[in-house]
Amino acid sequence: MALLSISDLTVDYRRAGRTIRAADGVSFDIESGSVVGLVGESGSGKSTLALAMMGLLPANGAVTGGSIRFDGAEMTGLDEAQWRSVRGRRMGMVFQGAMNSLNPVRRVLDQVAEPIRTHDSSIDKAKASDQARGLLSLVGIPADRHKAYPYEYSGGMRQRAGIAMALSGGPALLIADEPVTALDVIVQARILRLLEDLREALDLTILFITHDLGVVARLCDRVVVLYAARAVEEGTVEEIYGHPKHPYTRALLQSVPNFARGRGESRGIPGTPPSLVSPPSGCRFHPRCPDAMEICATRSPGWTRFSGEQVATCHLYGEEGLSNG
Ligand code: ATP
Ligand code: SF4
Repeated sequence: MALLSISDLTVDYRRAGRTIRAADGVSFDIESGSVVGLVGESGSGKSTLALAMMGLLPANGAVTGGSIRFDGAEMTGLDEAQWRSVRGRRMGMVFQGAMNSLNPVRRVLDQVAEPIRTHDSSIDKAKASDQARGLLSLVGIPADRHKAYPYEYSGGMRQRAGIAMALSGGPALLIADEPVTALDVIVQARILRLLEDLREALDLTILFITHDLGVVARLCDRVVVLYAARAVEEGTVEEIYGHPKHPYTRALLQSVPNFARGRGESRGIPGTPPSLVSPPSGCRFHPRCPDAMEICATRSPGWTRFSGEQVATCHLYGEEGLSNG
């Protein structure tokens, strides 16, 4: 069963009298117990989706269409008090900057214990502290470092503490937005292993957001590829890595050194992501697509369903069924 279901979701920002549509009819499900990777270049709308799912859009941003269903309940339209009963409890979030958002003058143990009491006022201070110790140990921080200050931690340890804080409400869904991007490769691998272990130990469902397709291969079951505020391809990790259908997914994979090795040089994607104030007509990838045809500049492709669970939106494959706005 889907723990989270995003359907035809549209999110707009207003800035200087203009509208930026940062999510444009995005749909995908996250099944309970699965790990889904949401992948796309900078500015494709990944963080916007995460913020919308947590009810954390800034004041100039709003969900203007579609639905977000979490655990069977509609989330769009909740007020702040209702969001607070979900956020941090049923949904936890780890940010790229989580390791920098720890308060430098408070001990880590106290910072992890605090949200435990916020989520459940019946828990006294000593019990919250015990639970915080349990969480810090679970994320691999040795007991003799629990009471240290954040500046006494390495970047990897601070990210572990950020994960412990995100777990403090016992969430069913963990949204991890670029959680390893600021870390070096070895620490990245350790944090990814930690997330894998936590998934098993806590039966977590995870939405893992990254610009790097290389990172999701190991952790995720499914991948949703986002381009210029729209989903363009979705499938299992095996499908997306084994036989990517959308030219943008292929280009993203070509930019991953380990994947590209043996299949030609690793290379970046030519051109730059489009402005979302006035995105390209038709298929938004057409100005950068090596396979673009005449129709691509004028008509948005519909979805094509392939064998297995893979779907993509591209004129190369004709159209069957689902529409893409
Ligand atoms: P990155 O990986 O760089 O964080 P992203 O894929 O997460 O990128 P978003 O941060 O969601 O993308 O941004 C999507 C679009 O929305 C971009 O065009 C961005 O400039 C715009 N945007 C994001 N936040 C705001 C805001 N508060 N006000 C106006 N526009 C915004
Ligand atoms: Fe390329 Fe056309 Fe497919 Fe878009 S629809 S990805 S431009 S071939």
